[in-house]
Amino acid sequence: MSAIDERFARALHHSSQSTSFGQAFAPPIVNTSVYRLADDPSGPYQYARWANPTWTALEDALSILEDAETVTFPSGMAAIASVLYSTLKSGDRILLPSEGYYTVRVFAEKYLLPMGVVVDSCATAEVASHALDGYKLVWVETPSNPGLDLADIGAVARNAKAAGAIVAVDNTTMTPLGQRPLELGADVVVSADTKALNGHSDVLFGHVSSRNASVIGAVRDWRKIAGAVPGPHEAWLVHRGLETLEVRYSRMRFNALVLAELLERHPTVVAVRYPGLASHPAHRLSKTQMTGGGSLIALTLADRAAAERFIQGCVLMRESTSFGGVHTCAERRARWGDAVPDGFVRVSVGCEPSEVLVSEVERALNAA
Ligand SMILES: *Cc1c(COP(=O)(O)O)cnc(C)c1O
Repeated sequence: MSAIDERFARALHHSSQSTSFGQAFAPPIVNTSVYRLADDPSGPYQYARWANPTWTALEDALSILEDAETVTFPSGMAAIASVLYSTLKSGDRILLPSEGYYTVRVFAEKYLLPMGVVVDSCATAEVASHALDGYKLVWVETPSNPGLDLADIGAVARNAKAAGAIVAVDNTTMTPLGQRPLELGADVVVSADTKALNGHSDVLFGHVSSRNASVIGAVRDWRKIAGAVPGPHEAWLVHRGLETLEVRYSRMRFNALVLAELLERHPTVVAVRYPGLASHPAHRLSKTQMTGGGSLIALTLADRAAAERFIQGCVLMRESTSFGGVHTCAERRARWGDAVPDGFVRVSVGCEPSEVLVSEVERALNAA
């Protein structure tokens, strides 16, 4: 039994254990903007921009799973904005991954630069050897997306500590079950729960977790003041999604490994990248900091036409952006202007029965 499994089981049972006989297992959706208050207001629920019991139920479960205090947000970007705005001020320096989530880089250009923050960038595979003196915040996304390069979180955290910098890791692709950035020394972890954590492609959501009381306190304050608060219904949906995360994620990474092995053997495929394959340049690192290789595969076919034939020819593959859902989906990333070959396809592997998925992908590859 792994410590993560034990933690997941505790998170799963947390809200039902606090109910008494005759009460519902599922936490209620509390739709309110105000609470009844005594003349001298006290307690956590005073105004609904500050706190809501439906968020609390989810945040308690996530805090157990992350082993750190957790604050939830209405999207992954709102979670990321809370960390950037609450930690950085004019004159501070941030190091961003040059190929990380695109909107984070846009955010830095549109809002951090005019604020007087110095923004530098570095390739994910090289951040562990980048000098960090003078930095306030180091932003890491590993595996990077869509190239699936890895950063050594432990090494970055050691260098950052020596330089007095904070390390934030975007752990969206791996989920708390696949990678534990805080245990590897990072100060903050952020997640777009829109992806695998909720897993059903039906809600936008995000969270921030940290064991550093001043960092998470500033994030919570930012949410309360800026008002980027999740809706109770969305929080409830994510809580329900979280309950099946372990079974979904296990199936997804199993399917991903089996598919990656098939793709690697197939003559139609020019290149395949998956951290769980021995051919991945950072496969050894993946074994020390990840549990499994994740649910994303990057593959390159001969050209745009071959990639389109492959995606459209696979009945069990939805052509869509985003990832982490129960349905396998894929897209040609060059259509967004990513610096990748025209035949580059990112596959987000879902929860279909493995043998059905593998035979369907093989058939589509043969036809491509
Ligand atoms: C999707 C994503 C985000 C942003 O999440 P939203 O919920 O769309 O705002 C941030 N980081 C990564 C790695 C993502 O994949």
